[in-house]
Amino acid sequence: MGYFKILIKNGRVFDGVDFLGKKDVLISGGKIEKINDLINENANFVFDVNGKIVSPGLIDIHTHIYGVSNSNIGAPAESVCFPFGVTAVCDGCAELNDESFLKSLKTKIGVLVPAWVKEGELDLKTTSELLNKYGDFVVGVKAYFDEKVADNTNISHLKEICDYAQSRNIKVMVHCSNSPTGMKEIVNILNKGDILTHIFHGGENNICLFNDYDAFKLAREKGVILDAGFAGHVHTDFSVLEKAMADGWFPDTISTDITNLSAFIRGGRYGLTLCMSLCRHFGMREEDVLKAVTYSAAKAIGMPHLGRIREGAVADIAVISYGKNPFDFSHFVKNGAKGELGYKCHLTLSDGQVVWRDF
Ligand SMILES: [Zn+2]
Repeated sequence: MGYFKILIKNGRVFDGVDFLGKKDVLISGGKIEKINDLINENANFVFDVNGKIVSPGLIDIHTHIYGVSNSNIGAPAESVCFPFGVTAVCDGCAELNDESFLKSLKTKIGVLVPAWVKEGELDLKTTSELLNKYGDFVVGVKAYFDEKVADNTNISHLKEICDYAQSRNIKVMVHCSNSPTGMKEIVNILNKGDILTHIFHGGENNICLFNDYDAFKLAREKGVILDAGFAGHVHTDFSVLEKAMADGWFPDTISTDITNLSAFIRGGRYGLTLCMSLCRHFGMREEDVLKAVTYSAAKAIGMPHLGRIREGAVADIAVISYGKNPFDFSHFVKNGAKGELGYKCHLTLSDGQVVWRDF
C-alpha cells in the first residue's frame, strides 16, 4: 500500500498535551509503532531532527478550502496545509456540495455548513440539505454575526440555530466581528463545545472595550471554545489581542481562517505556523500554543483520534522549530505585529507518508 518505515530521531516529542523529552519515533503501516529514547531499527527513511519539535500533525479548525467553500474564497488545500505542518482542517463555510471532492483530499477534513439569514428569515432548509449531503464530514453549523458579511444579527436566530444543532448532535461555530450583538450575549446562547471564532476582532463590542472580559469568563464557565481565528487580513486587531493576552486571556484554539484572498499576500508565509508565532510573540506558552493546534483543536472539531502522538495512533506528524524566523504582519491589518522569532515547519507526515519536507 505504499507504506515505508520511517524513523524520526532525536526530536523533542510533544504528545498533544505535554513534552515527553528527547525521543525517537518509529512509523510503519501509517501508524506510530514505537516511541522510545533510542530506536535502532532499519527504516526506509531516517530523519535526524536534532532537537526540533515532533508534534502531532497540526489541526486548523477554521479554513476555507478550494472545492468546499465558495470558489472565490477557497484556497487550495495542498498549498495551505502541508507546508505549514497541517494535516487536518475544518472548512468554515462548506457550500459546494461536493462530497466526492472531500474524499479525494489527502488532508483530513471536516465541514461547517452555513446557516444564512436572508431578508430577515433564517434559512435552515438549505442548511439541512447541505448537512445531509456532507454526511460524515459534518462538524457543525456556522453562524455569522457580522454586518459586513451577513444580516444575521438577531440573537433569536442564533437560539434557533443552536437548538437545531443540538437536535442533530452537531456543533455551532459563530463568526463574530462588526456585530452590534455583544459577544457575551452570543456566548450566553451557545452550548458547551460550541466555538466562538475571531475572538480578538477590533469591531463593535470587541473584548477590550469594557475591560471586564465578561464574554470570555462566561465562555470558560460554560465550556464554549474561544478560537483565535486570525484571518489573514481581517477580523483580528492586534491592539485587542495584545491587551487581552497581557491580561492573561489566551485562546483555546488557534486557527488561520485562511482564504484564497489571504493565503498568498504575505510572500507565502501565511499559514498556521505564522498564527502560532503571533500567539507566542504575545506571551502564550509553548505548550499552550502547541496544544491549541493539536489536542484542543482535535477535540474542538470532534476528531479525538487525531492531535496525539502515542503508540498505535495514526502517524500524522509535524516536525517544527521555533527560532530566528522573522515575520512581518503589519500590512493589510489593523495594528499589526512584527517579530524576530517564529515557527517553521520542516517535515509533514500524513498517515505515515511524507507529504512535505524541507530537510
Ligand atoms: Zn472564515
